[in-house]
Amino acid sequence: MSTFLDLGLQEPINKALTDLGYEKPTVIQEKAIPQILSSSEDLKAFAQTGTGKTAAFSLPIIELADQTSMHTQAIILSPTRELAVQIGNNIEEFSKYLPNLKVVTVYGGANIEEQIRKLKKGAQIVVGTPGRTVDLIKRRALKLGNVKWLVLDEADEMLNMGFKDELDQVLEATPESKQTLLFSATFPREVEDIAKNYMRNPVEIASGQKNQGSDNVSHEYYLVTEKTRYPALKRVADLNPDIYGIVFCRTRRETQEVANNLIKDGYNADALHGDLSQAQRDSVMEKFREKNIQILVATDVAARGLDVNNLTHVINHKLPDQIENYNHRSGRTGRAGNKGISIALVTKKEQGKLRPIERIIKKEFIHTPVPSGKEICQNQLFHLIDKVHNTEVNTDQIENFLPSIYEKLEDLTREELIQKFVSLEFNTFLSYYENAPDLNNLSSRDNSRGRSSSENMTRFFINLGRKDRLNPAKLIGLINDQNIGDKIEIGAIDILDTFSFFEIDKNYEKETLDAFSDNEPDFNGRSVNVEITKTDRGNGGGRKPRRSGGGNFSGKGRRSGDRNDKPSDSKKGFGRRRSNEPSSRKGDNKPATGFGRKRRRG
Ligand code: AMP
Repeated sequence: MSTFLDLGLQEPINKALTDLGYEKPTVIQEKAIPQILSSSEDLKAFAQTGTGKTAAFSLPIIELADQTSMHTQAIILSPTRELAVQIGNNIEEFSKYLPNLKVVTVYGGANIEEQIRKLKKGAQIVVGTPGRTVDLIKRRALKLGNVKWLVLDEADEMLNMGFKDELDQVLEATPESKQTLLFSATFPREVEDIAKNYMRNPVEIASGQKNQGSDNVSHEYYLVTEKTRYPALKRVADLNPDIYGIVFCRTRRETQEVANNLIKDGYNADALHGDLSQAQRDSVMEKFREKNIQILVATDVAARGLDVNNLTHVINHKLPDQIENYNHRSGRTGRAGNKGISIALVTKKEQGKLRPIERIIKKEFIHTPVPSGKEICQNQLFHLIDKVHNTEVNTDQIENFLPSIYEKLEDLTREELIQKFVSLEFNTFLSYYENAPDLNNLSSRDNSRGRSSSENMTRFFINLGRKDRLNPAKLIGLINDQNIGDKIEIGAIDILDTFSFFEIDKNYEKETLDAFSDNEPDFNGRSVNVEITKTDRGNGGGRKPRRSGGGNFSGKGRRSGDRNDKPSDSKKGFGRRRSNEPSSRKGDNKPATGFGRKRRRG
């Protein structure tokens, strides 16, 4: 494994990288840095966001730039202001021990005179958005006659945003002799055209396979209807109390609507799109980076400049019009070695869009049932229990109260105390979700309120869950493999993390138990244990029984029926509050109204 010094970078740069915590080069850096340092050939690099591409092109330029000359030697074009600023900041950080190396960043929506003044002072490296760069060239404030390197960062995105003319103009303003470095996550025809028309026999490198997404991202899809799209989105958030993600929408209006709904429903969310002023966008991005916002609802373009490495989820509220953009979206998670999940909410009609995306990302989407209320309750409950477990107790602060608290609770056993505490936190939550509809049942008729569990079914417990890679299809397969009976009916299925439930025609109760016990099947190396559940199906059932082996599985059952699947104010316990507020400000985190609920933004 090489170091930055091995790649040919000088010690002051290496030192700056160490300060930033860059211990070793990423794949794209390992390939691009020696190539650019040793050759003036043009370069085509296939690199996703999050692969370290900024350093891949910036570091060799910093290394090679003539610091004794104040002429502009490198022009770096990037699609958005945010990304340009980020690249400029990165270059400043990388060159902090090279005092004569200067970088100026230019972008629209900011005072042009100020930028002209900075350019006049001279900078070896200029980073700019295409429109403002062309403007400055026309005003003769930016002279590119001495440019040795032209970088087109996120070239696909620049073309998507309609900057083709501007790119042409900048390319025309630079000398023939320059080296062009083109970085793009995807290579649609327009990008290939730029490469063909403006680059000479470029060398090709890739951070992974061409156009392929990160290996760290798993891709799931939920089948929804237009009506259940938003409730399904909320269930994703509810299932993951620590979610930190971006919800992608196709239009500004859709973005604002989804964000408004989430905020109204008590989630810690906000919108990011082009109708906001630059100051508003900056503020939202800052809050998101600081994790004061947990769910950012954004358009593709507006999210481009966000440099956040530890997103847990990317959610496609609607799939992008241009399928290449899916790669950009999902590439926002699974960065810097972290794992991530990209979820697409698709209607039956939109399902056809998944195949072409699968071909690009070279991975299959996993059909995942929309989480049931029960799964959500379990996850939330265990999250709460973990939190309780991990809470540090400051005895100094509560010492004085403890004797009287102990006295008051003296008559309760440990078990009673736990039960009361969980009920206090959870009763409203549980009852809310108990009545929530099964969103996997796509026909609205089946979603109607008040369906009761089938009397003819018996509910079984099985000791396998999602952690064992069990899914409804595999469970049905497992049941069928036991040859319980010809065409037995399988009812509702609930897959939870470590165990699951399924319903079988009551007439086959004994046969089912016998078959599992006689066959002693194993599943992925685990021996399988099946039992009849002792409780009734108060929060299960509600689905039409079906024939084993036949038909489409459409999820879990439970009594259905909430109006809008939204925890109202009296049923809080969703979303999250700001993580970094002093605890004294978490005034509304009262146990009686639920844990983990977001603080309303003041
Ligand atoms: P980029 O693809 O340039 O947007 O970089 C993605 C993230 O990875 C940024 O936050 C960088 O600061 C970080 N990064 C880039 N290169 C390295 C490296 N060699 N080691 C650690 N972090 C890196």
